[in-house]
Amino acid sequence: MWCDVKLLDLILPVRCVVCAAPGEQLCRPCRDALPRLRPPLCARCGKPTQWPVTRCGECAGRRLAFASARAAVAYDDRVRSLVRGWKERGLRTLAAAAADAVAEAVPPPGATVLAFVPPDRARGLERGYQPAERLARELSERWSLPVEPLLARTRPAARQRGLSLGDRRRNVAGAFAPARDSPTRVCLVDDVYTSGSTANGAASALRKGGARCVEVVTFARVVR
Ligand SMILES: [Zn+2]
Ligand SMILES: [Zn+2]
Repeated sequence: MWCDVKLLDLILPVRCVVCAAPGEQLCRPCRDALPRLRPPLCARCGKPTQWPVTRCGECAGRRLAFASARAAVAYDDRVRSLVRGWKERGLRTLAAAAADAVAEAVPPPGATVLAFVPPDRARGLERGYQPAERLARELSERWSLPVEPLLARTRPAARQRGLSLGDRRRNVAGAFAPARDSPTRVCLVDDVYTSGSTANGAASALRKGGARCVEVVTFARVVR
């Protein structure tokens, strides 16, 4: 094609990535209708529950390298469109909207630094289009915490989509390594919490780097 997506973005009117209404990248009604996650939640993995619990059916019996996981919204079709626009087109205002939703839903972490799940180079994401890092930078302003690139990828991950839970866990085990020494308390930021495998693999690498307590924060969470 003779012109790339960024040029098209300049030519075409801005449309809401969810409902295609012209005007904004995420229109006010769609922003207000994001499926926010509210307590009670599992204190450990953040799954919505009937009443407050410290473990739930999803995380009981799992060894998790993180102390807690929290997310702002449930991952549904609207949120998928939003995350896709953010990932594929680097739409900056979507990252800001996502960070606003997180800051509303999730109390500031007890960490001294924000880390992010490093991009998978094999996916060909351009610099600046990486949702986890972009979200961490937006949250850094809201929570007055520095962002540090504490993690590296050791190898490209195979696609997670379509893999069983067990295969997902094996797929990400060892996919991350510490890039530098971690402070004791770290908040790990990612765009979507799916099975928890990525968060767990990344948190495990942070702990190898010296972190003692890792709190995971994501914009969205798959709720089964
Ligand atoms: Zn809309
Ligand atoms: Zn749980």
